[in-house]
Amino acid sequence: MAHPPSPVNPGPSRVAVVGAGMVGLSTAWFLQERGVSVTVHDRRGVAAGASWGNAGWLTPGLATPLPEPSVLTYGVRAVLSPSSPVYVPPSANPNLLRFLAKFARNSTASRWLRAMRALVPINGLSLSSFDTLVDGGVAAETLEAKSFLAAYRTAAERRVLLEELEQIRAAGQTMEFEVLDGDEAREVEPSLSDGIGAAIRLHGQRYIDPGRFVHALADAVRARGGELREGVEIADVRDAAAGVTVLTGTGGSEQYDAVVLATGTWLGRHARKFGVRSVVQAGRGYSFSVPMEHVPSGPVYFPAQRVACTPLGDRLRVAGMMEFRKPEAPLDARRIRAIAESARPLLRGADLDARQDEWVGSRPCTTDGLPLIGATRSPRVFAAGGHGMWGVTLGPATGQLLAETIVTGERPPQLAPFDPLR
Ligand SMILES: Cc1cc2nc3c(=O)[nH]c(=O)nc-3n(C[C@H](O)[C@H](O)[C@H](O)COP(=O)(O)OP(=O)(O)OC[C@H]3O[C@@H](n4cnc5c(N)ncnc54)[C@H](O)[C@@H]3O)c2cc1C
Repeated sequence: MAHPPSPVNPGPSRVAVVGAGMVGLSTAWFLQERGVSVTVHDRRGVAAGASWGNAGWLTPGLATPLPEPSVLTYGVRAVLSPSSPVYVPPSANPNLLRFLAKFARNSTASRWLRAMRALVPINGLSLSSFDTLVDGGVAAETLEAKSFLAAYRTAAERRVLLEELEQIRAAGQTMEFEVLDGDEAREVEPSLSDGIGAAIRLHGQRYIDPGRFVHALADAVRARGGELREGVEIADVRDAAAGVTVLTGTGGSEQYDAVVLATGTWLGRHARKFGVRSVVQAGRGYSFSVPMEHVPSGPVYFPAQRVACTPLGDRLRVAGMMEFRKPEAPLDARRIRAIAESARPLLRGADLDARQDEWVGSRPCTTDGLPLIGATRSPRVFAAGGHGMWGVTLGPATGQLLAETIVTGERPPQLAPFDPLR
């Protein structure tokens, strides 16, 4: 049910959202739910950023902070190799080096636990906020993962995730799972090869076709009277007592009561002048889709290779890599091949040479692994981004909580750890 703004605190009536990805469009939809008129701008179009070719997992049970102790154990050599699942170019610029130094400082067990505890409350809202969108008319579905398997060559490799699941549980996040051997895993999922010797079956998680979902969300925002301006770059945002002026790359300007910056990996560009100092670094990932003899009945994860697979219709999307480079750099075909080669011995009946939809996109990564959601130094300019690996899972929950903040002027407790000015 839509909540009208309270007459005591009327809140803004016209809001501009910059960025038509999962986070920006979810925020627009939940603002409309509260009676706000929205205009969404994207310099390219709907789902033009990270929100298209990602793995589409709605996995609050696995939505953990990216800086974690095992990232450090990869070591510099692995990180520099083009076929390593985590890649840093040898010519890293000073900004990237600063990001990595801070990221490494946060990759300790105690900081990970603190960040994990901060994510638990918003993770708890993830699936219900998707249900609110679908029940409220977004014409797309979320799919229950009938099977969701993390698969390994050996039981020894599996120990890392088992330990992490213990830590996740210790932080207060519920996640049911069972431990399987290779044959049991193949019984659940015949598309796993004989190279798989151990697995974990995760319960209660879902997945989506992310491109389709975000387009349906855009259609719903339009159908409720919102305006979507595609191909419109926002060049500047200026705050004045009477409102916020949004300036376009072609010299146009328009005034709104408030603006939401949901520009993914590009968040820093406009948010910095409003006091948001946290660096948002592109953690680029790649994906493609392949035909399968037997399309899996749910996502398949190969944690040791950092490869994520998702059934999309009659094909399997295969995604992976964490490449710390500029978001504008062209797609590097070597990374696509590296993902295909690491998946090849693990999947049965996958035609990894019949690839389509080769794609690269940028996870918006922060050094502490937490998103930036809330008011900036200006009470009229809001940030919504920096979700790293989990902007799909947490996009609708972010939109719901941020719309409440913008309209009521009160920050819900779940957002306290994500203060963009931290
Ligand atoms: C390989 C891969 C797999 C992933 N798998 C998952 C997963 O399974 N589950 C999950 O939860 N997350 C996953 N993610 C992460 C997820 O994709 C991102 O966190 C999420 O899409 C970020 O959404 P966003 O709306 O913040 O940013 P984006 O989708 O990047 O949207 C930002 C938009 O802002 C626009 N923009 C930028 N600057 C301007 C400007 N100045 N003016 C106008 N427009 C502008 C861009 O064009 C873009 O469309 C994955 C990511 C990758 C790369």
